[in-house]
Amino acid sequence: MNKIHIVSNRLPLSIAQADDGFSFTPSVGGLATGMRSIYKEFGGQWIGWSGIPSDDLSEDQLNEIDERLVDENCKAVHLSSEEINLYYEGFSNNVIWPLFHYFAQYIEYNVDYWEAYKKVNQRFADQVLEVADEGDTIWVHDYQLLLVPQMIREKKPGVTIGFFLHIPFPSLEVFRILPWRKELITGMLGADLIGFHTYDYERHFFSSVRRLLGYEVSFNQIHMEDRIILGDAFPMGIDYDKFKSKAEEVFRKSLPEKSELHKELEKYFLMSPDRKLILSIDRLDYTKGIPNRIRAFEYFLEKYPEYRNKVTLIMLVVPSRAEVEQYKLLKSEIDELVGRINGRFGLINYTPIWYFYRSLPFDNLIELYSSSDVALVTPVRDGMNLVAKEYIASRVNQTGVMVISEMAGVAKELGEAIIINPNNEPEIADAIHQALMMPLDEQRQRMRILQQRISRYDVFKWAAEFVAALKKVQAIQRNFL
Ligand code: UDP
Repeated sequence: MNKIHIVSNRLPLSIAQADDGFSFTPSVGGLATGMRSIYKEFGGQWIGWSGIPSDDLSEDQLNEIDERLVDENCKAVHLSSEEINLYYEGFSNNVIWPLFHYFAQYIEYNVDYWEAYKKVNQRFADQVLEVADEGDTIWVHDYQLLLVPQMIREKKPGVTIGFFLHIPFPSLEVFRILPWRKELITGMLGADLIGFHTYDYERHFFSSVRRLLGYEVSFNQIHMEDRIILGDAFPMGIDYDKFKSKAEEVFRKSLPEKSELHKELEKYFLMSPDRKLILSIDRLDYTKGIPNRIRAFEYFLEKYPEYRNKVTLIMLVVPSRAEVEQYKLLKSEIDELVGRINGRFGLINYTPIWYFYRSLPFDNLIELYSSSDVALVTPVRDGMNLVAKEYIASRVNQTGVMVISEMAGVAKELGEAIIINPNNEPEIADAIHQALMMPLDEQRQRMRILQQRISRYDVFKWAAEFVAALKKVQAIQRNFL
C-alpha cells in the first residue's frame, strides 16, 4: 500500500536533554493527535524539526537523535540557531504571520529572512524526497513550509501532495503587499489539494492565484497547464472525546480529590451563589484581541454596576515569542490594563480579573472550562481558535455561553454562540451582559446544538476527510490526463 508522510515545522514530540541521554515525550496538541492516526495507519514517516538547535549538539548526539527517531517513524530536519532565527522567527513569524493576520505594519521586509526561508524549505523537501517513493502521498502543514509542495513536485512528480494552511489566508489586497507573493503561492500550487479552515480563506487564495498568476479557477478547481488542483475548506476539529471524558471525570470528583485550583474556584462560588466566572484562554499574541477584551470588560463593569463584586474574568495568557518587541509591548499593555481595572473595581474580597501568565496542565484547563459560566473569545484575527471548541466539549451539564469574535474561523461553525465584532467594545460589554442573563433552558438549547456539531466533526474526522479528498483529486487528475 502507498504510504502517507506528514511534514510540519516541528516533529510531534519534544526532545529534552538529560544527563543520561535524551528523553522523548509525545506532543498532545491537536495536530499531533489527528495526524498520528493517519501516518501510523498508512505506515509513513513524519518529517520535522527536532526542536533543539543543531549547533547545541555534537555529531554523536545528532546521530543518537536520528537513530532514536527511527523507532518513532520520524525523521528530523536539523536546523542551526541562525536558521531558526531567520527562517522561523524571521520569515515565518515576522513576515508571514503578521501579513496573513492583517497586521501588515508589523512585517519586517528582510531579504535575509526570505533567503533562509527558501533554503530551509528546500532542506525539508530534500528530507521528504529521501523517504517518499513514487505513488506515496505527502501531507505538508502550515505557513512555515509554503514552498515545500512545489520543491517536492519538481523532483518527484509521481507523488500526491496535500497542503493544509492552519492560519487565515488574507484578501488579495493584503497579500499582494508582499514582495515574494508570487513565489509563495507558486510554492503552494505544487500541491494537488490545498486545504483551509474556512471557505473565505479558500476564496481569498483563489483570487490571488487568478490575479497574480493568471490561472483559471472554476468552482474549487485551479486549472494549470498540465494538471488540476483542488482547494477546499476543512475546519479543523478537536479530540472531542478526550475533553468530554476528562470533564466528566472532573465533574465526578469529591471535594478532597479536587486540585487546589478547582477548590479555589469552588470557594469563589461559595462566597455568594450569584457569582459568575468568565473565562478567556490564549497565547500571548497581538492577533488574540486581549487588550480590547479587557477594555470591554471594564466598560461592562461601568455600564452594569450591579455586576461589580459578582463577576470575575479569569484570563489565562500563555507566554509566547517573549523576546520579540511587539510581544513585550503587548505584555506591558495587558499588565497595565489588568492593574488599572483591579485597582479601580477591586475590593478586599473581590478581584475583577484573575490573570495567569503561564501555561497550565491539561487537568487544570478542563477545570477552568467546566467551572466558567461564559467563554469570552475575542481575537481580531484567528485562523480557527480551538479554545472555543474545547470549552464547548467540556460543558458536561450543557450550560455555559460562548461569546465569539466574528474574526475567528471557528465563528462559522458556531451560529448558536453570541457573535461579536472584537473592535466594538460596547457590543462586547452587552454580549457579556446577555450571556450572564441567559436563562438555563436557552443555554442548554444552544449548547446541545453546538456540542452535536463539534463532536461530529472532530480532529479524526477532519484528518480522514482531507485524506479522502486527496484520493478524490487523484481520480480527477487521472481523468484529466
Ligand atoms: N493550551 C495549552 N496549555 C495552556 C493553555 C492552552 O495547551 O496552558 C492549548 C489549548 O488547549 C488549545 C491551544 O493551546 O488547544 C490553543 O489553540 P488555539 O487554536 O486556540 O490558538 P493558537 O495558539 O493555536 O493560535
